[in-house]
Amino acid sequence: MTLKFYNSITKKKEVFKPLVEGHVNMYVCGPTVYDHPHIGHAKSYVSYDVIVRYLRYLGYKVCYVQNITDVGHLTDNADAGDDKILARAQRERIEPAVLVEIYTRSYFEDMDALNNLRPDISPRATAHIPEQIELIEKLISKGYAYVSNGSVYFEVSKYREYGKLSGRKQEDLEAGARIEINLEKRNPNDFALWKKAEPAHIMRWKSPWGEGFPGWHLECSAMSMKYLGESLDIHGGGIENMFPHHECEIAQSEAANDMTFVRYWIHNNMVTVNGQKMGKSLGNFVTLKDAFKKYHPLTIRFFILSTHYRSPLDFSNEALDAADKGLKRLFNTIKRVRRQIDEAANGETTVLVYEKLEEHKKAFLNAMDEDINTSGAIAALFDLSKEVNALLDSGEEVSKKCMEDINSLYQELGDGILGIVPVRKEVKADIEDDFSEGDKSVLKEVMGVLIDTRNQLRKEKLFQLSDFIRNKLTEIGITLEDTQDVTLWKKR
Ligand SMILES: [Zn+2]
Repeated sequence: MTLKFYNSITKKKEVFKPLVEGHVNMYVCGPTVYDHPHIGHAKSYVSYDVIVRYLRYLGYKVCYVQNITDVGHLTDNADAGDDKILARAQRERIEPAVLVEIYTRSYFEDMDALNNLRPDISPRATAHIPEQIELIEKLISKGYAYVSNGSVYFEVSKYREYGKLSGRKQEDLEAGARIEINLEKRNPNDFALWKKAEPAHIMRWKSPWGEGFPGWHLECSAMSMKYLGESLDIHGGGIENMFPHHECEIAQSEAANDMTFVRYWIHNNMVTVNGQKMGKSLGNFVTLKDAFKKYHPLTIRFFILSTHYRSPLDFSNEALDAADKGLKRLFNTIKRVRRQIDEAANGETTVLVYEKLEEHKKAFLNAMDEDINTSGAIAALFDLSKEVNALLDSGEEVSKKCMEDINSLYQELGDGILGIVPVRKEVKADIEDDFSEGDKSVLKEVMGVLIDTRNQLRKEKLFQLSDFIRNKLTEIGITLEDTQDVTLWKKR
């Protein structure tokens, strides 16, 4: 078994071999924090989360850096238009720094809910202005960049390999370039490293070229270099950022350091709605906060992982409903196993059962090794469940130890690698919905009786007994809250 990645720059599936054995330096372009994250963000960051989890599972020591863009990302993605952060801050009449804080928190909140592990470092562009200025100075001194009217541009024609990631040739670029009126540039393909700030532009920093702000592409080169070194093992990002963003990152970094910037380029595909890209500009996006009102975050995670990260994911309520059903089916088997742990007798289990478990685990890992084929890995989990259900239905005696081992396998693959199977306690509390509508009304009545009994006991000062009821309920995930005149209950 060997891990292979599809490398966007060689356009081939390649065996993964990091620069330093046992270590992986990984950088992923993070969000521009001017709005709440949507399903498209979830696809991207869940995909990289699983890659990080799998690399760690294989024993690599991974340093995972994902930046926060809080300056310089202009509305047309090139060198024109407004700064997205600044425009939104002005619209909401708040300080850009306040806006950034609000949406950075919102981003992490949603990523946490999706069970993404936090990156090891989340550097912000505005906190790395000196590093960016230093990189620009280096590029100017090496003849790759020029100052023009207080701005600095990268001269694309000086870097011969420009276009090697996206496959766009400089001649094509020129022929197909939009007519852009920017007299500061020597060539329309040149891109901004530093932009002069107009008087009204409040996000501004001092630089050797006057007051201004960094170009969007620059931060990723400067911050990846600072935290991960001049050559990265893996760089990830959305396929829509391959050009110009990643192409520009390569040009800046390789021109500055004279070495390969990234060894494995990984690009995730996008989320579509009826075949069209989901995005803010098209107005067809669904924020995660809205989606979470209807679906459990793990359902959304499961939905994303059911499709390969390099394939587009078509969003619809029907598809999410189907994912919800699928995940519940998986949980049902896991719940069955967990119940059996409590009920099964000690004893031996045949070797045959273990051999079968091993086969499913192998199928899972083989799928992951093939460029993180999560849909194949999920299929392997369902095959495992089929096997487990058949075993439990057979009436054959299965030992407690074996049930524990099956549970651990779900935990190892479903939780550790895919992050879709919560630990035992949480499944009970969060996902398990054992009650039909009819059961629910009975539950309400029974809870009413219990609460009345407890209140009566308290009135009679029989606190030991009233506490006993409360504690027993807490154990099964039901909490009581005594307000002034009634006792409320909720199931975690
Ligand atoms: Zn980037």
